[in-house]
Amino acid sequence: MASSRLGARGQCLRLLKTRGFLLLKLLAAILAVLLFCEFLIYYLVIFRCSWPELKTPEGAGALGAPKAPEHVLRAMFLADTHLLGAVRGHWLDKLRREWQMERAFQTALWLLQPEVVFILGDVFDEGKWSSPEAWADDVGRFWKVFRHPPHVQLRAVAGNHDIGFHYQMDTYRIKRFEKVFSSERLFSWKGINFVMVNSVALEGDGCDICSRAEAELLEISHWLNCSREEHCPRGCRDRQRLPASAPILLQHFPLYRRNDANCSGEDAAPPDEKYTLFKERYDVLSQEVSQKLLWWLRPRLILSGHTHSACEVQHGAGILEVSVPSFSWRNRNNPSFIMGRITPMDYALAKCYLPREDMVLTTYCVAAGCLMLITLIPTGLVSAPFHFGRRVLRKFKTM
Ligand SMILES: [Zn+2]
Repeated sequence: MASSRLGARGQCLRLLKTRGFLLLKLLAAILAVLLFCEFLIYYLVIFRCSWPELKTPEGAGALGAPKAPEHVLRAMFLADTHLLGAVRGHWLDKLRREWQMERAFQTALWLLQPEVVFILGDVFDEGKWSSPEAWADDVGRFWKVFRHPPHVQLRAVAGNHDIGFHYQMDTYRIKRFEKVFSSERLFSWKGINFVMVNSVALEGDGCDICSRAEAELLEISHWLNCSREEHCPRGCRDRQRLPASAPILLQHFPLYRRNDANCSGEDAAPPDEKYTLFKERYDVLSQEVSQKLLWWLRPRLILSGHTHSACEVQHGAGILEVSVPSFSWRNRNNPSFIMGRITPMDYALAKCYLPREDMVLTTYCVAAGCLMLITLIPTGLVSAPFHFGRRVLRKFKTM
């Protein structure tokens, strides 16, 4: 009697031990899947990106003189991060998207070591209507997601979601955006001139903010023209001389184009949207303002956001505009950013894709299926199909 009781207790202990061991294995497998999908995948995918090569060796200068590598600027361009706000953002959506962007950004910083990062507008989703408290909360979360060491510069231009479309924007919203991201419109870095355009204010209807924005651009145009003159003309003498290099324009709205019909690549607009005509002053800048920007500033490269899809457009002779797709998985299955190696006379751009969301979800589904099978087999709940298969195989073997 006593020996049978001892035997039953031993069996019970063995069963508990097996179950405990299985539970531990399950936990380890779940942790491994989470670690891969939420952390390691960013390293694996972004590790494949590399800085593009310049056409001229290390960016030959104006007179063809070779320049040292330290004269080449490594810049990262991303757009439409749309950090969710207090009204539209469900907490889970917010948590997931911000974690994805944080991991992607921090991994890119660590692996690629850019010197400057530009965000081409719509940094926030609800800047156009958020209360001062909600704005402070959004800004706090932004600096957590996009934290960076002090030697890396981060600049952003305003988008329609940051300050509102033309009919919504006001000086208060512009000022609070500029308080976070600086109001500097023109700056030079390693001999390269960048113009940060507030394209939302380029409605061209003569409103107060629009007039001021145009006056500012005219002033910048004059300043850039001074830098192009070999001898300092009279009107330029009181200005600090800029590097003699055509500027790079950074803005939220793209310059005018009819639609995205000529855009190609896996992250261009989907076929059913490509032929939809763009609305001037809503999807793209007006034709008139676009011409003004090209005439006044004579840029060599333009980078813009807003459409959430990729596109490359040539404006006249050799002026390339790159529409940078959204950096958020909320807007795309395959977000990306642009990597640029830039010198005063040359530039080379490359795209770096982030992990595809459908791949991550497939990995989770396959892993969940495998784990379910592993859990259910010992319970005997899924033994029937296996036994059936084994019986069929045996039958074929004997025939
Ligand atoms: Zn936008």
